[in-house]
Amino acid sequence: MAIKNEDPKRSRSRLIGNIFLLIGVGLFIFNIFAPQLLSNQIPRVPYSLFIHQVQEDQVARAFIGQDQIRYQLRSSSPDRPGEVLSTTPIFDLNLPQLLEQHKVEFAAAPPQGNNWLGTLLSWIIPPLIFVGIFQLFNRSATPGGLQISKSKAKVYVQGDAPKVLFSDVAGVDEAKAELEEIVQFLKTPEKYTSIGARIPKGVLLVGPPGTGKTLLAKAVAGEAGVPFFSISGSEFVELFVGVGSARVRDLFEQAKKQAPCIVFIDELDAIGKSRTSGGFYGGNDEREQTLNQLLTEMDGFNADNTTVIVLAATNRPESLDPALLRPGRFDRQVLVDRPDKIGREAILKIHARKVALDPSVDLSVIAGRTSGFAGADLANLVNEAALLAARAGRSTVQMQDFSEAIERVVAGLEKKSRVLSEEEKKIVAYHEVGHAIVGALSPASGKVEKISIVPRGMAALGYTLQLPQEDRFLMSKEDMEAQIATLLGGRSAEEIVFGRITTGAANDLQRATDLAEKMVTTYGMSKVLGPLAYQQQQNGFLGVMSNQRFMSQKTAEMIDQEIKEIVERGHQRALEVLKLNRELLETMAQKLLESEVIEGESLQEFLSQIKRPEALVAA
Ligand code: ADP
Ligand code: MG
Ligand code: ZN
Repeated sequence: MAIKNEDPKRSRSRLIGNIFLLIGVGLFIFNIFAPQLLSNQIPRVPYSLFIHQVQEDQVARAFIGQDQIRYQLRSSSPDRPGEVLSTTPIFDLNLPQLLEQHKVEFAAAPPQGNNWLGTLLSWIIPPLIFVGIFQLFNRSATPGGLQISKSKAKVYVQGDAPKVLFSDVAGVDEAKAELEEIVQFLKTPEKYTSIGARIPKGVLLVGPPGTGKTLLAKAVAGEAGVPFFSISGSEFVELFVGVGSARVRDLFEQAKKQAPCIVFIDELDAIGKSRTSGGFYGGNDEREQTLNQLLTEMDGFNADNTTVIVLAATNRPESLDPALLRPGRFDRQVLVDRPDKIGREAILKIHARKVALDPSVDLSVIAGRTSGFAGADLANLVNEAALLAARAGRSTVQMQDFSEAIERVVAGLEKKSRVLSEEEKKIVAYHEVGHAIVGALSPASGKVEKISIVPRGMAALGYTLQLPQEDRFLMSKEDMEAQIATLLGGRSAEEIVFGRITTGAANDLQRATDLAEKMVTTYGMSKVLGPLAYQQQQNGFLGVMSNQRFMSQKTAEMIDQEIKEIVERGHQRALEVLKLNRELLETMAQKLLESEVIEGESLQEFLSQIKRPEALVAA
């Protein structure tokens, strides 16, 4: 569906260039090796033998060259000429004297016969090689070939692809509504220009990876039925200064010819990074030139009233150069965010159209269990479930396939190959049950749905799956404290049961500490430090990137102290809960060791027996 527009003339000239290059290299190689091949027919002897033969008066004549001496021995009989030998000379100033003493006829070696060719080639070959290497690099950058300014933009023309439409995108309704208008601009520009309205030129799609930005851009082109030029910002970042800007010029030239059309620049941040930020080397020059060219082009086609709309996508808007966001450039920003539960269900529906779904599958339940998934994750999930069903030999995809697929996406692929020792298994079992028991008392972080000591992914030896029942956008201080306690539940269980701790809790501790730090420095949840943000958030939508606030040594110490206290409180709380439920901890851990997994009703049955400490009942 992507047409690469390469014209035949260019590829012919490239072919000719290549042939020349081949001939050149061939001659070059010949020139290097030919003299050696020729002289190889003459027996080569050590220099010491040559000297010896001279001293023995056996040598008749010698031709002395820079790197070779050829000499002829005196003939023993008149009808047979003397043998010709060669040797490699060493630097020896006394040689002429020695030769004279022994009556050897000698002369400097005549220049080699094909030397003019060699000289000529030594002038021609190096530039040829240079050009060749240059071309090679350039080829890997531009499939277009010899001409370096060739745009690499792919064109998606309407009609030849399975057209992407707005109905293929879901869960991003606001973004769709905004882009709906762009489609109108492209379809009937006169309607707007006739009353003097300026059609927006640049629309920036902003959002996390995999939320459907590229998909939306294609859908705009599909709906409007216009050509779609697509290029990725990272492709601009080239080896040679000047190539990127030439490419931008070329891209817009093509686009203007085909107007109305869409130019889509994916990963805009690769070229649009703030010109003042970072970078040690002059390598920024290239990006800067490319960016400047882009700005020039966008300002330029204002005047000639062509309908070229530039869509761009980025997941790092805060790093963009402010110049890009000025009116008349990317003056419209459309937020493409992760979908909510209803959005996720709609996206699942779109992707489930392609697979044979069992009627029992309830997509809304799956949507509920996939909070935080982006569109691409959901597409992947459906595919993963279908693969599992196929592997199991089922003809339709069932709910159990989805459950398994969610776990795979969440926790990484199952790794049965990793074998734990009995002792390790025991520790992991108590550790995970500790998480589960403490976690069950803090519903804010979700319902405990599964405990497993089957190792998964890279790091987790076991895991406790706690899935949120609904989307949560706000967390209270209590929720966060409960979450910290849950994270410390694993380590606390190890402490209580084995009286010692292992390295298995490192990740838990890291997360608990991070959370505590956020509470203090970002959310102002500390009584001691007050509602101040000590660490500025970086979330400013299109805002300027903010620096960390300067703070006094004393404040820094207080923050450390406060973080430590929050984590320690969580630790104490976990210990308290687990001590109170020591028996349950024991039975659940034994059950887990036996079956490796506890889930479903039996898990809920266990969890319903948890005793709540007094302090928590009151709270
Ligand atoms: P982005 O460009 O934002 O990183 P993509 O547009 O490349 O994300 O999304 C990758 C794939 O994920 C799409 O091709 C599509 O199959 C799926 N996808 C992502 N978002 C959505 C969505 N909102 N609706 C339907 N499918 C989506
Ligand atoms: Mg993309
Ligand atoms: Zn843990």
